[in-house]
Amino acid sequence: MKISLLGAPGSGKGTQAKLLSQYYDIAHISTGDLFRKAISENTELGKKIKQYMSTLVPDSIVMDLVKERLSKDDCKNGYILDGFPRTVNQARLFDRYTKLDKVIYLNVPKEEVVDRILSRRTCENCGEIYNTHTFSDTKCVKCGHNLVIRKEDENIELRFDTYLKETFPLVKYYKGENLLGEVIVDSNSKSAVENINQTFEAIKRILGD
Ligand code: AMP
Repeated sequence: MKISLLGAPGSGKGTQAKLLSQYYDIAHISTGDLFRKAISENTELGKKIKQYMSTLVPDSIVMDLVKERLSKDDCKNGYILDGFPRTVNQARLFDRYTKLDKVIYLNVPKEEVVDRILSRRTCENCGEIYNTHTFSDTKCVKCGHNLVIRKEDENIELRFDTYLKETFPLVKYYKGENLLGEVIVDSNSKSAVENINQTFEAIKRILGD
């Protein structure tokens, strides 16, 4: 199974990708995580892409990284792409490389994603995600390292504008390819956990489970 999760920053792609990866036992590939790792390890790639983290890393760099990652053994049975493709050009280039089975669009209202980004904290070591509404500690439960605000989350308006301009057109693109499944996430009066579970069930239904 090869699927991609599409949605605004803060729409829950990372959380859902982790759940789906466990459930279907397939690899979770987050291009954002791969870039953050390269930056924290100060690799050649990290130095090159640091400047782009609040907008978008150039397509050629992204494509090389993704192809290299997908050639690894753990991707043989399939994968969940989280944050890729992020532009129509990336989608076209990726179509030439392989065909996706489904693209899941997490449709979350802007006010909700802004609130989620403002309250999002990420472990600087293992990448585990927390929300200050539900978790007030400053250390990761899994590994004990500090929870931080992602550098690229500091400029929310720029992140959201980039999403609307570059990534949102993928909804139309994948509709045209007959690959799109949409989950409308309405979080009114629901707890975060209920919301996550409902979204997960809706995604599984789209995937025929
Ligand atoms: P994310 O954690 O998915 O929001 O990604 C963090 C940052 O990594 C983004 O703001 C971009 O600068 C970069 N990035 C991640 N995935 C891509 C992609 N597919 N294309 C271009 N840039 C990306």
